[in-house]
Amino acid sequence: MNNKLPIQNWINQNKLINVSGTMTSLGASLVPKEIALAIEDSLDVFIDINALQAEASRVIAELTGAEAGCISACTASGICIGLAASISGADFLAAESMPTVKSPMNEVVLLKGHNVSYGGRVDQHIHMVGAKPVEIGSVNLVEPYQLRNAITNYTVAALWVVSHHTVQSGLLDFDTFVSICHSNDVPVIVDAASEYDLRIFIEREADVVIYSGHKFLSGPTSGIIAGKLSLIRSAYYHQTCGIGRSMKVGKECIVGAIAALQRWQMMDHKKLHKLEYQRLKYIQSGLNEIKGLLIQENPDPTGNPITRLKISIDPKISSMSLEKLIELLKKGNPSVIVRDHFVDNGFFEIDPCNLNEGDAEIVVSRFKEAQDALLKDTPVQSEEDELGPRYSCYNQDGLPSVDPKTVPWMFKRNKDREDALKNWPASFQH
Ligand SMILES: *Cc1c(COP(=O)(O)O)cnc(C)c1O
Repeated sequence: MNNKLPIQNWINQNKLINVSGTMTSLGASLVPKEIALAIEDSLDVFIDINALQAEASRVIAELTGAEAGCISACTASGICIGLAASISGADFLAAESMPTVKSPMNEVVLLKGHNVSYGGRVDQHIHMVGAKPVEIGSVNLVEPYQLRNAITNYTVAALWVVSHHTVQSGLLDFDTFVSICHSNDVPVIVDAASEYDLRIFIEREADVVIYSGHKFLSGPTSGIIAGKLSLIRSAYYHQTCGIGRSMKVGKECIVGAIAALQRWQMMDHKKLHKLEYQRLKYIQSGLNEIKGLLIQENPDPTGNPITRLKISIDPKISSMSLEKLIELLKKGNPSVIVRDHFVDNGFFEIDPCNLNEGDAEIVVSRFKEAQDALLKDTPVQSEEDELGPRYSCYNQDGLPSVDPKTVPWMFKRNKDREDALKNWPASFQH
């Protein structure tokens, strides 16, 4: 039977090439055939969901070393029900009453430098369960005494976030964080959405760890919660009958997440990394032929086995802005989406983890199409070479002055978020 539904044509016409990484807003992952087939098996039968989640628990325990686990709708919902579990424990009435809070309010501690937005704000998860976020230390410096003093009788949990978005230096190390929390009987919940190591946090005595099923695991949209049996039971209760009911996950995604874990267990990870690196090197050698780009290899900041390319525009060759180049790549056909988190720091990245066969070639040719435009934007006359790369220039009196178009803290974003939201998303026009 080859009767395609209209949506299948739509997909074919609108697919993107993603060199940005596993982004929820781009559909997260390429789901491999063997996972898709496992999901297909679940679609035309009935399954006891509790039994299926018990099977998930067994698989999660085996892979992570945790006592138990369950599948949630995504990491974000997993964080919510993990926090909810640490508030209600085995008290069903308390679970059903959330997020209504009795005063004084429950508190969740987290490092100030961890309270980031990964797309959604971390502290919102805490508010959603009726608790109050208590930030520890300053953005770039945290001392153990600050955590010790922040923990009170009202502290119900501590949240630890692993992400390239968090501050990467000057904070407490994980073991110290866990040891202070545990000596005060506070459970530690870890947001490890994008982390490849499924065992390290449990080994280091985290109480609950949440991974995304649809990032590096390549599963369908889902979250993997692993941890202490009592907390997992309570989190699952929240998902089934409590605050997490509106975030529940269905059979197709539970089966898909289990399949993704089982595939991960059997996979040749080194071979995959090698393939991804070869694709990256192919793109790098293609881009090296393009005048005006500065290209560097960049290791993943949280320790995942990913090498990315860090790309900036050589101001000696072109005065094009990075956003213009990003826009050119995005507007073409097919659309190429780069990793643009750090564009206000003067670079973007290329991530090789989500490419289909042949995509690397398309990425290079799309860059080549942008080359003419790149070279047309002639460079701003630069001064003596012996001053080296810098954001500053010198005025007529010879005094240093900042070029506001280039310096990160002056960087004007293309569009204010507020502006963008008025008409969001722009494609919603009928
Ligand atoms: C992606 C991400 C999330 C959200 O993950 P979902 O599974 O899409 O909900 C949360 N935290 C961090 C650090 C992330 O990178």
